Amino acid sequence: MKKIFLPLLLLSALKLSAQDVEKIHRKAILIDTHNDIISNELITGNDAGKLQTTGNFDLVRAKTGGLDVQVFSIWCGDQYGNGTAYAYANREIDSLQALINRNPDKMMLVTNAKELKKAVKQKKLAAMVGVEGGHMIEDRLDYIDSLVKRGMCYLTLTWNNSTSWATSARDETLHGDTLQHKGLTELGKQIIHKLNDAGVMIDLSHPGEQTFKDVMAITTKPVIASHSCVYALNPHRRNLKDYQLKAIADNGGVVFINFYSGFIDSTYESKHAAFMARHKPQFDSLRVIYKDYDLASIRLNELNKGEADQLRPPLSMLIKHIDYMVKMMGADHVGIGSDFDGAESYPLGLDSVTDYYKITAELVKIGYSKKDIEKILGGNFIRVLKANKGK
Ligand SMILES: [Zn+2]
Repeated sequence: MKKIFLPLLLLSALKLSAQDVEKIHRKAILIDTHNDIISNELITGNDAGKLQTTGNFDLVRAKTGGLDVQVFSIWCGDQYGNGTAYAYANREIDSLQALINRNPDKMMLVTNAKELKKAVKQKKLAAMVGVEGGHMIEDRLDYIDSLVKRGMCYLTLTWNNSTSWATSARDETLHGDTLQHKGLTELGKQIIHKLNDAGVMIDLSHPGEQTFKDVMAITTKPVIASHSCVYALNPHRRNLKDYQLKAIADNGGVVFINFYSGFIDSTYESKHAAFMARHKPQFDSLRVIYKDYDLASIRLNELNKGEADQLRPPLSMLIKHIDYMVKMMGADHVGIGSDFDGAESYPLGLDSVTDYYKITAELVKIGYSKKDIEKILGGNFIRVLKANKGK
């Protein structure tokens, strides 16, 4: 049984019992489509199988939070490319597999809805592989097959860096005039067909608008955005505009909400830039230790918690993004893709994978039906996975 505990104050505001929320939360299959812990653990050497005092995810806290399915992001930065990125992706999958092998009673690798439900029934965390960044297939169609064999359920077509066959939101926005191509090339189109045929979900969280349009024109399967928020509420290049939300809903796809403060709150990034300027020497020394920018940034916030906490938006702001999407797309097209362990800041109250129930409680509070909450927490992911896999 998953145990959750609601603070008394929150309860009185909700006018419902902890048992009501706990019942809804426990009954739902809770799925998070984006977590970066595997990339981080390769650098820090921490064991996500044991309770950790840093970061957002480990198996102990996942159990407490009632997490049933986690898609682990397999990611490397743009310093990796042809000749190195595919090998790095495999190293990360090895690391995830080693975590599973060390904890066979607590988690199992799953690749389709049937296996996912089997894991849930056995009360094990269903671990899935999401590959974040088309650069990891190194322009090769056969690497898609190889990654499918290793469990890949989605491919994020680009990360912040473009590939030779698809342009990213960052590059289309910042370097639009100097790009050699914009959107999908011929190889890019072949890759979309290949992903559709192989049952791999196409993830449009990082690609630019031209790539988005080119994909939507040819995909034969529902797409996802594994960790994205609403542009109309915060005009960030990584957020999705209304026409994109509508197009994904029309296609039967799902957008999974990202918890990162910078995507939720339009005032966050400038406040964070000032914070970074104040702590530059400390950040520079953390970069020497961790190399990775995001990981150093996460540690910097942990070391200056009181100050960093003041920059966090309220949880209600994240709920506004969910509610906006539900109103625009319908409750069948929204889910959860936290980006935990991939960013330095999340709304107040969302500290780790123990805290998803607070979202459930807020959705109950604003009047969402049990059925819609179950879809948002996990049902929609299962539907889109099945639609891609064919089982
Ligand atoms: Zn990302």
